[in-house]
Amino acid sequence: MAETEEEEKFPFDINPMYEGERVRKAGMYVELGGQGKPGYELVLFEPDPEQIKDGEVDLIGPDLEDMEEGGNYAYAMIYRVYGEQIEKDLEAVIERRNHEYQSYIQGYMHLNQRAEIWVRISKEAVKKGLKSLKQIGKATIMLFKAELPFIEKMDATFITDEEEVKKGLEEANRIYEARDVKTRGLHDEDVDEFYQCTLCQSFAPTNVCVVSPDRIALCGAMSWFDSRAAARIDPEGPNAPIPKGDCIDPIGGEYTGVNEAAVRLSSGEYDSIKLHSFLEKPHTSCGCFEVAGFYIPEVEGIGWVHRGSKVTDTPIGLPFSTIAGSVGGGKQVKGFLGIGVQYFYSPKFIQYDGGWRRVVWMASDLKARVAEAIPAEMKDKIATEKEVKTIEELREFLQRVDHPVVKGVIREVDGERITEGWAVEAEAVAAPAEVEEEVPSEAQVPLASVPLVASGANTPVRIILKDADISIGKIIVKRKEGK
Ligand code: SF4
Repeated sequence: MAETEEEEKFPFDINPMYEGERVRKAGMYVELGGQGKPGYELVLFEPDPEQIKDGEVDLIGPDLEDMEEGGNYAYAMIYRVYGEQIEKDLEAVIERRNHEYQSYIQGYMHLNQRAEIWVRISKEAVKKGLKSLKQIGKATIMLFKAELPFIEKMDATFITDEEEVKKGLEEANRIYEARDVKTRGLHDEDVDEFYQCTLCQSFAPTNVCVVSPDRIALCGAMSWFDSRAAARIDPEGPNAPIPKGDCIDPIGGEYTGVNEAAVRLSSGEYDSIKLHSFLEKPHTSCGCFEVAGFYIPEVEGIGWVHRGSKVTDTPIGLPFSTIAGSVGGGKQVKGFLGIGVQYFYSPKFIQYDGGWRRVVWMASDLKARVAEAIPAEMKDKIATEKEVKTIEELREFLQRVDHPVVKGVIREVDGERITEGWAVEAEAVAAPAEVEEEVPSEAQVPLASVPLVASGANTPVRIILKDADISIGKIIVKRKEGK
C-alpha cells in the first residue's frame, strides 16, 4: 500500500498482509466488545455534506490511555458518510468493509460484524506508540476513502462509555432489523443472479459465499440487495453477480451457475453447493457465521447455537466456540453449518432436510430472538438448555412432545419422507437379528451414530452408517443356523 503523508504519522503499520492477524490473550492490551461487553459498528448515510466533519473522530468514554491493561470495555464505531453516488442502500455494504480495513492495522484485531464485533489491541501496538482510539478511527477513515473513492466525506464517533454504547445499541438493532426485513418479500426464483462475496477468502481461501434472496450471507451483514448494490458501485470489489444458470434441484437450491462459482472460488476444492441443505453439499462456512448448526445423529435432528449465546453447553456437550472451530475455515462440513440469523426467517430454511421439522434443539436466547420465525406447531417441540442437558434427556423430551423426528420427518415442500424415525429403529432392535457380525477389536465404530433399520421380517436388514469413522480389519457375515 502506498504511504501517504498522513499514514506516516500513525505509530503502526497499515498493510493488507495483517489481515487475519490474531491478538492472543497473553499479548493483549485491551479487549473491546466481544463476549463480555456490548459493542456494535454502524455506517449511516448523511445526505447533507455540510453536516460531516470530514476525517474527524470523536470519542465518548475512556481512551486507551485511561484503560486498565487486560481490561474488557464496551465499544461502538459509528461512521457517517457522504458521496454523490451513495444511497442509504450502501450503508450495510460500507459497514461490512470496516472489518477488512481495520484488519490492515498491525496489532489491531477486528472480528465479526454488527452487534457482535470483537476487537483486541496488542501490547506491542501500545508499546510502539498507539495511545488513542482516535488514531485507529483516523486510519480507518483514510483507508475507507482510499479504497472506496465514492466516499467523499466521512467522520466517526467511537464510544467506550458502556451506558452510551448500550443506548446506541438499541437504535443500531432497529436499523439492522429494518435492513433485514426488506429482503423477505423477494425469493430465489424471482431473480436471475445471485452474488458472490470473497471478502473472507483472506483467512478462509476455499470459502464460497453465495448470497441469494432466500439465503442471507452467513455473517448476516450482506443481503442480496446489499450485495447487488456493492457489485454495482465497486465492480472490482469482493461482490460480483453469479448467473444462476439451470436449476438442478429446486428444493435443495442447487444451480449450475452456483456450482461453477463453487469450483472457481474454491480453486477446485468444491464442485457443488445446495443453498438450502444442511447435510448434503452444504454451503461452506468461513468464520463469520452468526449461528452454528450441528447434526445430532442420535435423534436425527439439528441443533443451533449463536455467537454470543449465554449457553455454554449444548446437548452434544460443546459450546459455540468449539463448534465454530469445527465449522469454520471455508470448508463444506457435513453435519455442521454456519448461517446468518435472518436465514431462520427464510421460507427455504434448510428445506432439503425438512426445515423446521428437523430442528430439535436451540439455545434459549436464540429461540426467543427468532420466535416469530418458528412455525406455531413446532414452537413447543424444540428443546432448549432449560429443558434438556444431555442427548438422553433430549430423546425423552422429543418423544414426550411427539416431535416429527421420532416417527420420521415428512418434508413439507414435496411430501417426501426423508427420515424413517426412531419408531422403526426400535422395531429393528426388537426384531430377530438376521445378520451376525464378527468384528475384530481394531474396528472403531461410533455405535451411537449407526442406526439399524429393518424394513420388515422378510426383507433384508439395511444398515445405515451416518458420520461413521470405521476401520475394519475383517468382517464376517453368516446366516444363523436353522434360518
Ligand atoms: S461471510 Fe461471506 S458475505 Fe460475509 S463478509 Fe464474509 S465472504 Fe462476505
